Amino acid sequence: MDPSDIPFDLDDETRDVQARARAFTEEVLFPLEGEAERRHGRLPDDVVADVKREALARGLTGGLHDPAHGGQGWTRLQWALVEEQYGRSTNAIHWHIPNGYNVWEHAGAAHLERWLEPLLRGEIRDAYAVTERDAGSDPSRIAATATPKAPNGSGDGWLLNGEKWFVTSGDVASVYIVMANVIDDGEKLPTLFVVDAERAGIETIDDPLFTHMYPDGHPTITFTDVEVGEADVIGGVGGGDDLQRSWFMEERLGIAARCVGAMWRLLDITSDWAMEREQGGSRIFDYQGVSFPLADSTADAAAGRLLTLTVASLADAGADPKVVHNKASMAKLFTSEAAWRCADRCVQAFGGRGYLRSNPAERLLRELRVDRIWEGTSEIQRLIIARGIERRGVERMLH
Ligand SMILES: Cc1cc2nc3c(=O)[nH]c(=O)nc-3n(C[C@H](O)[C@H](O)[C@H](O)COP(=O)(O)OP(=O)(O)OC[C@H]3O[C@@H](n4cnc5c(N)ncnc54)[C@H](O)[C@@H]3O)c2cc1C
Repeated sequence: MDPSDIPFDLDDETRDVQARARAFTEEVLFPLEGEAERRHGRLPDDVVADVKREALARGLTGGLHDPAHGGQGWTRLQWALVEEQYGRSTNAIHWHIPNGYNVWEHAGAAHLERWLEPLLRGEIRDAYAVTERDAGSDPSRIAATATPKAPNGSGDGWLLNGEKWFVTSGDVASVYIVMANVIDDGEKLPTLFVVDAERAGIETIDDPLFTHMYPDGHPTITFTDVEVGEADVIGGVGGGDDLQRSWFMEERLGIAARCVGAMWRLLDITSDWAMEREQGGSRIFDYQGVSFPLADSTADAAAGRLLTLTVASLADAGADPKVVHNKASMAKLFTSEAAWRCADRCVQAFGGRGYLRSNPAERLLRELRVDRIWEGTSEIQRLIIARGIERRGVERMLH
């Protein structure tokens, strides 16, 4: 075993997956970053087609999905190691790698064939719509409803009504996964629905600009009397919150892994620069005001990497999902805050060159900011961790 793998004994298959993702990142993603930034994240169609083709050829599509539907069937550890590589790149060009949200695995066979398989072939895109104007950190405030089509609730489906905010890829998606409350005898049952984007009653009412230059937008979308049927429910009526939790665990793990990758890139380029740049008769790296912040961030990156890969391994080993959920929150909180500090320090070490949009450090400074907000803000991660301490005790949270 390579001593650098300890305590993760990476088998040959995992090393191969990791090496393929690394080569893809360095050979395909890095060279496109400048153009993506200049074009506000939107690469030309032929370039996007090349990215997809390369990802397919290199076996990087649909990482966690079942090979029966066109996925790779990776373990969470393998997936985290791949996401770490993508995190080294800017402008989220890896979003073009064919994939689908993980909740598809709970969808019925017809939906898997109709949506997941084309998603994993790179033919279409999906989007996930939960957040609303008055429901962000607190999803219990969701106002979107699914009311029975037939007044007597005779089982021919529902009419979906609501307004969803920040729908990532909502501008390009062919299908939405939408969270709404099924109203049953006055009771609200949070439920996920598959909604064909072509269905009548769907309208994009705003498509604002955001801080990063990413491939897709995050529009506001309204659903007005959109028809959905029994077969469009994912995970059962009332099962939305449970699915959401397992989705969050994986998404938070992915964010943590990408933040580790971002710190790796930042520290790489900044230490190279600082060892080369001379001012005041010396390399700037020789000034502790420059090298100590880089040392602090390197320690953060190493600690964050261990925590992230530990959470992935625990999830693979079938550890208590509540503990894994708590630890994924710790990994997301720690790495997203550490990566933000790291980007700020690296921009400072570059001086005026750190403020150029052509500098990956500048781009990462902007791009990493959202990792402290989406998939649960840092404050919400702290709430989850605090509840974990209360319910399970400190020792269980640490070990
Ligand atoms: C670029 C981008 C893409 C997104 N993509 C999607 C998507 O694809 N699908 C989707 O459904 N959503 C998406 N979101 C929404 C995102 O998940 C929410 O923005 C996030 O959960 C925070 O909700 P909010 O914006 O309503 O902020 P609020 O919940 O209003 O929070 C505002 C502030 O109050 C703090 N706060 C709130 N409650 C508490 C509390 N109990 N204790 C302490 N502090 C608290 C928060 O931490 C935050 O600092 C996206 C957001 C962005 C910016």
